[in-house]
Amino acid sequence: MAEQSPITPRAKDFPEWYQDVIRAGDLAEPAIVVKGAMVIKPNGYAIWEKIQRELDDRIKATGHRNAYFPMFIPESFLKKEAEHVEGFSPELAVVTIGGGKELEERYVVRPTSETIIGHFFAKWIQSHRDLPMLINQWANIVRWELRTRMFLRTSEFLWQEGHTAHATHEESLKEVLRMLDVYADFAENVMAMPVIRGEKTASEKFAGGVKSYCIEGLMQNGWALQAGTSHDLGQNFGKAFDVKFQNMAGQSEYVWQTSWGVSTRLIGGLVMTHSDDAGLVCPPKLAPYHVVVIPIFKNDAERAATEEVGRRMVEDLKGKGLSVVFDNRDERPGAKYFEWERKGACARIEIGPKDLEKKSFAFKRRDLEKKEFVPMEKGVDHVVAQMEAMQKDLFNKAKKFRDESTRRIDTWDAFKAQMDGAGGFASCHWCGDGACEGQVKEDTKVTIRCIPLGNAKEAGKCVRCGRESGERVLFARAY
Ligand SMILES: [Zn+2]
Repeated sequence: MAEQSPITPRAKDFPEWYQDVIRAGDLAEPAIVVKGAMVIKPNGYAIWEKIQRELDDRIKATGHRNAYFPMFIPESFLKKEAEHVEGFSPELAVVTIGGGKELEERYVVRPTSETIIGHFFAKWIQSHRDLPMLINQWANIVRWELRTRMFLRTSEFLWQEGHTAHATHEESLKEVLRMLDVYADFAENVMAMPVIRGEKTASEKFAGGVKSYCIEGLMQNGWALQAGTSHDLGQNFGKAFDVKFQNMAGQSEYVWQTSWGVSTRLIGGLVMTHSDDAGLVCPPKLAPYHVVVIPIFKNDAERAATEEVGRRMVEDLKGKGLSVVFDNRDERPGAKYFEWERKGACARIEIGPKDLEKKSFAFKRRDLEKKEFVPMEKGVDHVVAQMEAMQKDLFNKAKKFRDESTRRIDTWDAFKAQMDGAGGFASCHWCGDGACEGQVKEDTKVTIRCIPLGNAKEAGKCVRCGRESGERVLFARAY
């Protein structure tokens, strides 16, 4: 049986609860022997594989192709874009020795791949006919983090990074927003996590880019999570790596580039959006286990009868594409319920001798309190319908929480009181000055998460300094 130590309630200590859910759900553990790194265990990796499959389909459906570039990048490449190297320097891992010899040129372990891909784009792109160049890479990334938190911030993580080159800024901007929409659609319809699409302020944008866009979710403790980003790189990397093409008029121009990514951090978002004090809750589209079938018996005859019906049920459910576990271990049923709740199985089916007499079974969805009794002949359809219902219900519940936790706040006192209390998104006026934004962060650890897309223009006064503002932005504490 899995480890049985208790899960700290959310209300008592949210960060402890988060670690406990990951441990009890058997998702991951800190590597410890490798500082800041984590081991993603089979249950956690199963979720990542489902995320990959869903996203990869969407990335390909929008015309991109997968490729793979080296994880070692010549240090000189990073230095070609001044802001980029400045932004990433503090967290670089550098290889200085190879094959027992000091290297002539040191390599950085990729913190992101704009530079090395820029180098190859320069070789691959000559003419407007080579554009757009639409590439995606699934890879691991290393950023030397001092303060780590499983899935949310680790020194090595997994992600996908899209890199594209276009003939015009108009086209590259369209790509940036198109991929932001792909991420938002994935977050809401697959992860059941509502997100706000928005633009980052200058101080929060990608180092070396022109403008960054993001999707932001709200976790159950009132903190925001940046769940994906899409960057307008302008011609910055095109100029740094001399990526030029002949336009239709025969003139040479620099390409316009984009990059966009989501990572294993999404699993942290999934945990903090849906899970409860009993452990992991997973939307069916990403769950490692949909249904656990548990036969209940006191003697051999009951065992034979309940197992026979149980096994048939397992096969029928598998036939509908569900991932099903048959748990007939010699163990108290209560202990099994407890374990599968922690591991985030979407539902369980109990089949006991009395159920056989009544030609029904007991059905319990992970996210609902009540247990229901379902006639055996309607069983499979019921389970399939309940998986669809659970996917929708989890989204609606998370959206209700997000909406109720988003407040228009107009005074600094109210802002501080809210952020010291329940947190959430504060929709406030801001003067647009980075120094004022920095002061808010210094005073309260609260940052501007984004300027929502399609934001209404509205005259007002900056919540911090009282200067004129033309629109509201979203503030929150964030991971
Ligand atoms: Zn201000």
